[in-house]
Amino acid sequence: NNKRLENQTCIVTGSSAGIGSAIAKALGCGGANVVVNYRKSKAEAEEVAHWIDNNADCGEALVLKGDVSKEEDVKNLFKKTIDHFGTVDVLVANAGVQIDHKLHEMPLEAWKKVIDVNLTGQFLCAKEAIIEFLRRGMRPDVSKSLGKIIHISSVHEEIPWAGHSNYAASKGGLLLLMESICQEYASSKIRCNSIAPGAIKTEINKEVWSSKEGMEQLLKLIPYKRIGVPDDIGKVASWLASDESEYINGTSIFVDGGMTCYPGFSSNG
Ligand code: NAD
Repeated sequence: NNKRLENQTCIVTGSSAGIGSAIAKALGCGGANVVVNYRKSKAEAEEVAHWIDNNADCGEALVLKGDVSKEEDVKNLFKKTIDHFGTVDVLVANAGVQIDHKLHEMPLEAWKKVIDVNLTGQFLCAKEAIIEFLRRGMRPDVSKSLGKIIHISSVHEEIPWAGHSNYAASKGGLLLLMESICQEYASSKIRCNSIAPGAIKTEINKEVWSSKEGMEQLLKLIPYKRIGVPDDIGKVASWLASDESEYINGTSIFVDGGMTCYPGFSSNG
């Protein structure tokens, strides 16, 4: 059913580009209304929204600015969404940053910035989503769940990452945030899960895939021998937001071509 998200409203944070934009489009194609949140790039966010608005299968798109690490911005993002669409059914907390330093050289600001966006930002968005789900109550004609939260995590919620300890700590923290939300709100029929992408071709890792050598090194880490594309994540997010995955709760879905299967231990790799 390609209209499996019809009459539902989804907020996708950081969706002007990269994985977020693919998720916004995929949810839109499921018939959902989509809030395209951006922090800086308004023009790019509007392009994503136009794509959704011009696609006959999609719901309506709304572009909203907001920094997920700021409580006022997050409250405002939800308030404007609810004013416009009436409620929120799905939160995809996707916004994330990577600021790399060796640990002994890492400025406190680089640590704080990554935790503020990747972990505190996810908390702030999940909190507002849960407040709205509980306020609104069930809509059995629309979904079997009260609401769905999808955190965009990373294989680095599991794989340690030298030179990126702030990023790995933020995603490791996100794993237990997601599981705790599940434990706390599952009886209210809220589903909370994560998608943990492997290497997906976006701006965040351009330095790695833009050179032949970087790409060769990267493919050694991917048993399936191709880099991921944002659509790989969009498709899973759309399914995970829908009732087709109704009984999935409190789990991380790895979308990584096998990266978490330790290809370094393969004898024919
Ligand atoms: P990206 O840099 O293209 O996208 C990140 C988006 O988040 C950007 O649009 C950016 O503007 C937005 N953003 C950053 N800080 C924000 C803030 N404070 N408030 C609102 N928006 C903000 O990178 P991407 O690869 O598309 O990353 C998306 C998510 O996927 C991130 O959480 C990232 O950690 C995760 N991820 C990416 C990969 C990968 O290989 N690309 C792998 C694992 C996980």
